[in-house]
Amino acid sequence: MTAQKIALITGASRGIGAATAMLFAERGYAVCINYLSNSAAAEQIEQHIVQRGGRCISVKADVSNAEDVSKLFGRIDAELGRITVLVNNAAILSTQCRLEDISEARFSHVLRTNLLSCFLCCKEAVKRMSSRHGGTGGAIVNVSSLAARTGSPNEYIDYAASKGAVDTLTRGLALEVASEGIRVNGVRPALIYTDMHASGGEADRVTRLKSNIPMLRGGQPEEVALAIFWLASEQASYVTGSFIDAAGGL
Ligand code: NAP
Repeated sequence: MTAQKIALITGASRGIGAATAMLFAERGYAVCINYLSNSAAAEQIEQHIVQRGGRCISVKADVSNAEDVSKLFGRIDAELGRITVLVNNAAILSTQCRLEDISEARFSHVLRTNLLSCFLCCKEAVKRMSSRHGGTGGAIVNVSSLAARTGSPNEYIDYAASKGAVDTLTRGLALEVASEGIRVNGVRPALIYTDMHASGGEADRVTRLKSNIPMLRGGQPEEVALAIFWLASEQASYVTGSFIDAAGGL
């Protein structure tokens, strides 16, 4: 019998992360759902998975905090086993505005949540997956954004800059660990129907902008989850340092 694969999805209480956690569970993975504060939403996803016979834990942890990340990986080691897939999905954005109205505190908070979190989680994952450290390999998928390419002028340059850096981290780490059994790739969504747009002050942003999308519609979280799953799976065994845009043609 082959050992069950284990996936950590950060920010999995809602949106793209929740859809990804449910997809991995459906495809036979034991899943760790990480979240920041919304315990009720995380429990709902956990219940969904457990009721269908899946193995799942949910862990509250701020992935921008090194101590929290260390405890999060400790829980996975103890309760599920050695991680095989890491999906760095947790991220935030703030109210739409111009650069001169972004405070230093906001810039720093966005960078810590969106970028430092990836760095911290990748570090813990590499220590467990890399053949250099006695691991048997694994896959990391970083959820970036098309904003890394557009720069999000007049909306959230801080968010876009954090995602540009996530893409650079993805490429660099992919090359660093390519010979150690770890593949690292990225998915760049755009205009997906989730709660995130409400944080920017415009809950209906996808509906407003959908006529600009070549496919003339916004995306669903499940469509992004499928791209993430594919990159993490054996189907993508020769793919590393690459990106899939899940953006309707944008
Ligand atoms: P979302 O609906 O706003 O959900 C964000 C998730 O991240 C929640 O589960 C939240 O937990 C968690 N989270 C936030 N800060 C955290 C922290 N410090 N530690 C741990 N968890 C944290 O977001 P989404 O739209 O699904 O976005 C998922 C990913 O896709 C993000 O990387 C985002 O940048 C990217 N993306 C989304 C879109 C889009 O159109 N939606 C477009 C491009 C890229 P709580 O529930 O506890 O708050």
